[in-house]
Amino acid sequence: MPLSLKPLSQCKVFIVDDDEMVRLSLGVILEEHFSVDAYSTGQAVLEACDEVLPDFILLDINLPDISGLDICRRLKAKAIFENIPIIFITSTYDTGCQNACWEAGATDFIGKPITASTLIHRTKNHLENKLRLEKLIELTYKDSLTDLFNRHYLDLEVANVFKQTSREKKPFSLLMLDLDFFKLYNDQYGHPQGDACLKIIADVIERSIQRPQDIAIRYGGEEFLIVLPYTDFEGVKFICDRISTELETINIPHVKSVWSRVTVSIGGVIYEHQNKVSFDELINCADKALYAAKSDGRNCFRLSFCD
Ligand code: GH3
Ligand code: MG
Ligand code: MG
Repeated sequence: MPLSLKPLSQCKVFIVDDDEMVRLSLGVILEEHFSVDAYSTGQAVLEACDEVLPDFILLDINLPDISGLDICRRLKAKAIFENIPIIFITSTYDTGCQNACWEAGATDFIGKPITASTLIHRTKNHLENKLRLEKLIELTYKDSLTDLFNRHYLDLEVANVFKQTSREKKPFSLLMLDLDFFKLYNDQYGHPQGDACLKIIADVIERSIQRPQDIAIRYGGEEFLIVLPYTDFEGVKFICDRISTELETINIPHVKSVWSRVTVSIGGVIYEHQNKVSFDELINCADKALYAAKSDGRNCFRLSFCD
């Protein structure tokens, strides 16, 4: 069965090289086939990766600030970059250099001088493999109604993200959302419309998070989890406000609710590694905060620090 994959022309290819001529010539070759951004330093590409997830990275081994090998290692250490092919551009072919590339997590490398057709074909091949892998992961890990990640993904992958932030001692936050009076919504409008409403809420959640490392999960029937690594109290509050404002704006009618529209209650937890806490304990904290939001009248959020 053919998998419907994202067109190659929409794939984001990052070129990283401090030599302007190299950036320009690679750009000219690849721009015809892919969506290309070019960077001259390691710092610039790491910052760009935090904003937009690339599909493919062509990386110079020798950069002035951070070495290409180091960039590759740093990216490959994070789960969200794991499947992004990183290809080194190198003018040295000795065994030591080749081994260093593989050990850093390189997918492949391409030697200078670069032949245009080899560069294009190699990029296409690696991109197609990456897109196929992504599609299979999506079919395994996504909830078919909302297109958000499912519980399976939470159990298998999010725990790794949590461990990563723990190693780095960076904040890790969770939001648990539950639709208010949703049984009454189904009773009033019917199950198919209930499903359509869940889809709209999932889209609101998806729009409310913008960093590539943020993860939205359908946790249960009408419950959602938002995983916010590297996000502190202010960031968490910002997301809660954004969701509340968006729901107010889109105003989905719900005549059986005290607000006459669909609302959510949110329980949030911010963890800053004061004490050692397990991922399950964090989920429990978020659940308790959600319970508090429900008890306090619904259509509100309650945040707590888990430590
Ligand atoms: P509360 O404000 O306390 O959260 O009340 P509630 O009615 O939202 O909560 P309750 O747990 O009593 O009911 C949840 C409802 O969510 C019941 C079920 O019909 C509905 N639901 C769960 N999964 C789905 C689904 O996939 N589609 C639809 N349409 N409804 C669902
Ligand atoms: Mg519920
Ligand atoms: Mg509910």
